[in-house]
Amino acid sequence: MTDCLFCKIAAGEIPSDIVFRSDDLVAFRDINPAAPTHILVIPVRHVTSAAELAASDGPLLAEIFGTLTSLAEDENLDGGWRVVTNVGSDAGQSVHHLHFHLIGGRAMSWPPG
Ligand code: 5GP
Ligand code: ZN
Repeated sequence: MTDCLFCKIAAGEIPSDIVFRSDDLVAFRDINPAAPTHILVIPVRHVTSAAELAASDGPLLAEIFGTLTSLAEDENLDGGWRVVTNVGSDAGQSVHHLHFHLIGGRAMSWPPG
């Protein structure tokens, strides 16, 4: 998609602090971190949100969750970590390209605001 911020980050057209990349996904640090570790994992392909995923995206999701676990290990998040994906305005989705927040490095409360 031509006018999508995260498509541009995936294409390298907008700089970001990329920590991992494969053919199908990119992981980069959030520009406004909510915790000591705050990494966004996105598919390279434009998907608007988790609501747009199909059964055929199973392998992509498996790779994304495997990457989240690897990144949590790399970041030494031994005390635990959280994965969040916001869908739509009530949830506060501000970038309409599917992304999974990996958040950790501090104690967190539940439920989120
Ligand atoms: P959402 O609110 O859609 O769930 O999350 C979007 C996230 O993208 C936010 O945490 C925000 O800080 C992050 N973000 C927005 N613009 C940029 C950017 O240009 N670069 C990076 N690295 N993160 C961004
Ligand atoms: Zn996009």
